[in-house]
Formats: sequence, structure tokens, C-alpha cells
Amino acid sequence: MTGRHFLHVPGPTNIPDRILNAMRVPSEDHRSLAFPELALPLFDSLRKLFKTAGGTPFIFPATGTGAWEAVLVNTLSAGDRVLSARFGQFSHLWIDLARRHGLDVVVQQEEWGTGASPERIHDALKADTAHAIKAVMVVQNETATGVTSDVAAVRRAMDAAGHPALLFVDGVSSIGSIDFRMDEWGVDGAITGSQKGLMLPAGLGLCCVSNKALDAQRNARANNPLRRCFFDFDDMMKSNKDGYFPYTPSLPMLYGLREALAMLFEEGLENVFARHRYLASGVRAAVLDGWGLQLCAREPKWYSDTVSAVMVPSGFNGTDVIKRAFKRYNLALGTGLSEVAGKLFRIGHLGDLNELMCLGAITGAEMSMRDVGIDVKPGSGAAAAEEHYRRADAQSLAKAAE
Ligand SMILES: *Cc1c(COP(=O)(O)O)cnc(C)c1O
Repeated sequence: MTGRHFLHVPGPTNIPDRILNAMRVPSEDHRSLAFPELALPLFDSLRKLFKTAGGTPFIFPATGTGAWEAVLVNTLSAGDRVLSARFGQFSHLWIDLARRHGLDVVVQQEEWGTGASPERIHDALKADTAHAIKAVMVVQNETATGVTSDVAAVRRAMDAAGHPALLFVDGVSSIGSIDFRMDEWGVDGAITGSQKGLMLPAGLGLCCVSNKALDAQRNARANNPLRRCFFDFDDMMKSNKDGYFPYTPSLPMLYGLREALAMLFEEGLENVFARHRYLASGVRAAVLDGWGLQLCAREPKWYSDTVSAVMVPSGFNGTDVIKRAFKRYNLALGTGLSEVAGKLFRIGHLGDLNELMCLGAITGAEMSMRDVGIDVKPGSGAAAAEEHYRRADAQSLAKAAE
């Protein structure tokens, strides 16, 4: 096929040329005297990304799933109780991982299309007077349904309950795209991966833990620890403090990470978040106003700025739309996972992205829907998004002129 492939799944995302070029490096000795010049600044930059002054970041050659595992196996003891809300495939998988490590997960089931309930978390913690619950696990952005939970509200709920549990947050499809404040929100374990907001290939599992989590880590180590080796924080910290890794790091990924973080900071994190909101609002205008369809996210307070899950009308299969888009228009859309398989398709709008790329995805999705018989008006999605983008731009121009 000629022309560019339109990659609009919610990860992996498009890799900017700047990052691709930065990754094109010959191999070098990762135990050389020069290596810490690359490695050490990465940890400072990651603190800035996670918005923490005193947190400890980790870079594992893994994916988001590995970082999920790293945070749990280092800080908890075998059989510990944890509390987690489940409202989509990713929250489901993290719970499954915790259970496979022998943790006792108390699940708060929420309707898919909604998110973590601070009220229910508060009540569960309040009732846990013995403080058996050691951690609360929350997925900030549920990529399967396009739902963003309010992590600040979860922290307030935990404080209101006066409960000492650790707070672990999956920010794989939000950190670097949607605001995340580790220190301000009292997050004890923040988790992300390289192939979403960070615009890199998959291959890094990133996490950052608070001093409270490191205390828990020392405590767990002395007291029936969960098994770990590859993901052991202690091994990492021993090497990382001098700018090295306990095993061979992926050099291209580290160079790419350095470039990705430089790009995000050059744009300014707050501007990056605003751009994601602005682009996402255009996609939502296409879905809701243009096509007259519904999002999986039930209310505006759940809307995700990195992925929109579009419900297809009953009698149609979202998978047909995705197949058509891929085969006929060279467009990759996200599929419906598990409970919502066939009921929706997802448009990823995160990472290295602009208005016309979003309009390309909208138009491709629209043509594909029409091809499989879904009755949406030709041009309606793009028209709604265009007007959103033009209006928003007029507003920002007016603001700049003030
Ligand atoms: C992608 C994703 C994951 C899994 O990350 P992998 O890098 O595929 O292991 C976990 N949580 C969320 C919210 C995600 O979007």
C-alpha cells in the first residue's frame, strides 16, 4: 500500500522521526566510564515526568505488565490483602497478575464505562479497622473502555478513611498524556510503559515508588516476601545509584527514552496534556455530534483524553469496522476487548499527534462504518471535529492576542 499507515490504536503509538533517529545507535559498553552520562539524567527526567521530588524511578527492560509486577512483588508480602476496582480489561489483568502472585485481592466491580469509585474505596477502607488491606490498586486510564478515573479523589478518600494502605496507580496509557501528580496525590507506586504517551516502541516497563513504598519493601523483605529476581528493586538500586544496571540494558530504548522526555519537556507537560484534551475533544465531537453514536464512557467525567471507545449500533460488529479500516484504508483502530468484544472500536489519540491525523482516523472510521452498513452521514464526523478544531484554535489565537 502506498502512503503512510494510519496507526490509531491506543498503543503502540506513532514514533516521531526524532526518536527513531535517536535510537539508531551503535552498541556500546554498558559498563563503560561514559555510560552513567546517559543513565543518570534519565532518572531525574523520570522524576519530572512522574511529578515527584523524592520518588525512586525504575527502568526495566519489560513492558507495562512487567512494571505492574515489579511494584507488587517488591512491596508486598505473600498473601497480603489488596483492594482494586475492576472496570475494564486492564484493571482485570492487573488483578489477575496480583492473584497469580498469591495476593488476596478484594475486587470492587464497577460497570464498564465507569471507573474507580472513591466512595466505595473510602467505605471499604473505613471498614478495615485492622488495616489488613496493604494497598489500593487503581488504573488511572482504562484503555479498554476509554475511561479516566480521578486519582486525586481516590487519595482524598483514603485520607478521609484514615487508612495507611499504599496507593498504586497504573498510568500506562495516561502518564505523559494526561495529568499525573505522584507527590501531590500521594501515589506510592506509579506504573507506565514506553509505547503509549512516551512515543517509543514497547520494551520498557517504568515505575516510580515513594519512600513509604520503599519502607514497605524493606519490611516485606524481612517478612515473608513475594518471590522476585529479575524485578528486584534492591538489585536495581544498587547499580542505578552509580548510573548502571544489574543486567544489560537496551541501549536504543534508553537513547529513545532520553529523546522522548526531551520532546515532552520542550513542549511542556502542561501543554502536552492540553493538546491531548483538545485533540480528544475533537474526536468526541465526531462521535457524539457528528455520527450521533455513543462512547463506552458513560458520562463526561469519565471521558479519556487518550482513547475513545465508540459503541457500534446494535446489530453491527465493531470488529467488522476494524477489519475494513485495516484492509481497505490502511488504518489501525483498537479492538473491543473481552466483555466489550464486537460492541465497540477504539480510536487512540495519544502521543505524537495533530488535528489532521485525528481527522484521518475519523474519516477512515467513518468510511469503514458506512462500508459495513452503519448509517452515519458522510462527512459528519469530520465536519464536527473540524468545527471543534477551528473554534478551539480561534479561541487560543484570541487568548494569545489579549
Ligand atoms: C497497555 C496497557 C497495559 C499493559 O502494558 P503492556 O506494555 O502491554 O504490558 C497496562 N495497563 C494499561 C492501562 C494499558 O493501557
